[in-house]
Amino acid sequence: MDYQKIISEVYADIIGKENFGKVPDYIPELACIDENKFGINFTDLEHNSFGIGDFEEKFSIQSISKVFALSYVYEKLGEKLWSRVDVEPSGNAFNSLVQLEADHGIPRNPFINAGALVICDILLEICTDPKQELLQFIRDLTDDHQIFFNEKVAASEMQNSFRNAAMCNYMKSFGNIKSQPDAVIELYCHLCSIEMTCKQLSRSFLYLANEGKTPSTDEQILSLSKAKRINAILLTCGFYDESGEFSFLVGLPGKSGVGGGIVAIYPQHYCITVWSPKLNEKGNSYRGMKFLEEFTTQTGESIF
Ligand code: GLN
Repeated sequence: MDYQKIISEVYADIIGKENFGKVPDYIPELACIDENKFGINFTDLEHNSFGIGDFEEKFSIQSISKVFALSYVYEKLGEKLWSRVDVEPSGNAFNSLVQLEADHGIPRNPFINAGALVICDILLEICTDPKQELLQFIRDLTDDHQIFFNEKVAASEMQNSFRNAAMCNYMKSFGNIKSQPDAVIELYCHLCSIEMTCKQLSRSFLYLANEGKTPSTDEQILSLSKAKRINAILLTCGFYDESGEFSFLVGLPGKSGVGGGIVAIYPQHYCITVWSPKLNEKGNSYRGMKFLEEFTTQTGESIF
């Protein structure tokens, strides 16, 4: 398969069309981005890598960081993790609070904000320096130490974290948050503020395409079963209330973030990352969705 040719053609087609959507402004610092940025990177298990457009420019990975945090916590805690967070699609917006009351403070899944806040709370319990440990985990996965928090983005989100703070406090009333809500929010906002390029993201996600092992070092990050389960949650919950649509149109597990990034995984083969900051009404990159839909249509490759 000539992936390079397909990627170049789909990129050229999409860049020539109208770029719909809106850059988010609820985190003011994220609104400063040039909304026409557009980059793609494809990296396979043999480390063949191909990129186009702004694929070497760093952007805010936002909710994509939830996958790293979940992987880290799941490997350490094992199956008892699921007593604090469920694995069901929420069918609601990523920052919704509505299901928490009926569900007694147990978030529907680890990729909505409520679930990621519980994962951050667990990180605070099990790590001595959770921020640095997570950053190091991501650097090791990427085999690249040039990955950092963006303190301005973290501060900007912390100053506007009223919904996340409400969720955290509400879950604490059910006993599902152990640390102080401020500490949980501080960690959460820092993880969301991490900046990476499309190329770094594709590489860092290869363990999920490779049965839990990083292909460069053969290190088992997650067991085969845990890698399968994270891919399953990515497929059903990675795009919030657009997860069904992403699965329907693209057919790969993946994760989006409000920084405009999307990483998709083709198990046993490759990862592909798209970045374009304008988001659709569900908070997923407009061009990212379009690109991946067209890409899997052209390759005919999906998990189905
Ligand atoms: N930091 C963002 C928030 O909590 C992450 C959301 C996202 O990327 N979907 O709102």
